[in-house]
Amino acid sequence: MKNIPSITLKRGREKPVQRRHPWIFSGSVKDVFGEPASGETVRVLDADGGFLAWGSFSPHSQIRTRILSWTESETIGPSLFNNKLEGSISDRRKVDIDSDALRLVHAESDGLPGLIVDQYKDILVVQILSAGIERWREEIVGLLVELTDARSVYERSDVEVRALEGLDKRTGLLYGEEPPDYVEIHEHGLTFQVDVRSGHKTGFYLDQRANRVLVGSLAEGKEILDCFSYTGGFALHALRGKARSVSLIESSPEMMAMAQTHFQLNGFPVDVSEFIVGDVFEELRTYRDKARSFDGVILDPPKFAPTASHAAQAARGYKDINLWAFKLVRTGGFLCTFSCSGGVDRGFFQKIVADAALDAGVRAKIITQLWQDSDHPVGLNFPEGSYLKGFIIRVER
Ligand code: SAH
Repeated sequence: MKNIPSITLKRGREKPVQRRHPWIFSGSVKDVFGEPASGETVRVLDADGGFLAWGSFSPHSQIRTRILSWTESETIGPSLFNNKLEGSISDRRKVDIDSDALRLVHAESDGLPGLIVDQYKDILVVQILSAGIERWREEIVGLLVELTDARSVYERSDVEVRALEGLDKRTGLLYGEEPPDYVEIHEHGLTFQVDVRSGHKTGFYLDQRANRVLVGSLAEGKEILDCFSYTGGFALHALRGKARSVSLIESSPEMMAMAQTHFQLNGFPVDVSEFIVGDVFEELRTYRDKARSFDGVILDPPKFAPTASHAAQAARGYKDINLWAFKLVRTGGFLCTFSCSGGVDRGFFQKIVADAALDAGVRAKIITQLWQDSDHPVGLNFPEGSYLKGFIIRVER
């Protein structure tokens, strides 16, 4: 026991830990004893030396330690990871989701800080975002193979945030056979091809699944504009919901080509749809110049503000696209607008969208609040886990 390194917190900084928040910031740490290496387990102590928690140390990160257990008698090791993974996976199997693609592990919110595991049929895609999980990567992969009937485990740790933990980007096969070029998944009656090697995130935006279905339910007979369409998720659900027409705007030609493949795979004609490879900021203005209008517009942009320090700049971006989108929505139609930025909370996002409506000269009301789908739970003591915010807004004039 006495060889385990420890960190002592400044007086008064133990409160968040006691409230079970999993992050300890560098500014809260008074002393570090025993020279812990990156990812090594440390005992977290209050200013009087009392035990608070077990965490993994990250010498390069502002988040200096991420907590893995608040129980002193527990040992951080394979058996603890086995219990956590088993718990998370069995929770996930209970959620009622009509898809063979599912988030099995959602990091902090599942008690596994920095670990994402997504399942696409019998292929698992893993993202490791913290020094603590990096240290246990082999054990965790072994456990995932035991706990699921995975044929392959593929790593997609090619994200910027790893640099904050002093970790290099990393991708590749961790177990089993190389995944096929495309894994064909099914979501609420639709078929999608997922490129787990180079698609965004782990290949697909699983978090938007329920929202895509909801938009589909509003689409009958409507003309729908899907902005930031990626591989066509919202547009296809709109067509499944009997939309009259869909228009897609996406900056990546490869993603747009995949969207067209998805139209064909699902038996929807490409000739009555509009596929615009371009910049949403510009294309919305072009539509306005042409006096085009729609019954429903979807705005699902990438993350404009990864952290709070980018919030002001992000706010300008959100306001701009929402303003121009409002102008294109017919009276009585809807805007479905999202932010996945950690640095912009729901209240702030609502304010930005309200300002956009004001400037666009529309009256509007929120008719539905939207969140990430239920295979992306939010730790009750970890509000940061609630990153996806959205509104369906009815436009009046
Ligand atoms: N709605 C999608 C996910 C959207 S992700 C789904 O449900 O699957 C955001 C997409 O916006 C990405 O595909 C990215 O390539 C695209 N993008 C980013 N900036 C853009 C811009 N300025 N104009 C158009 N598309 C953009």
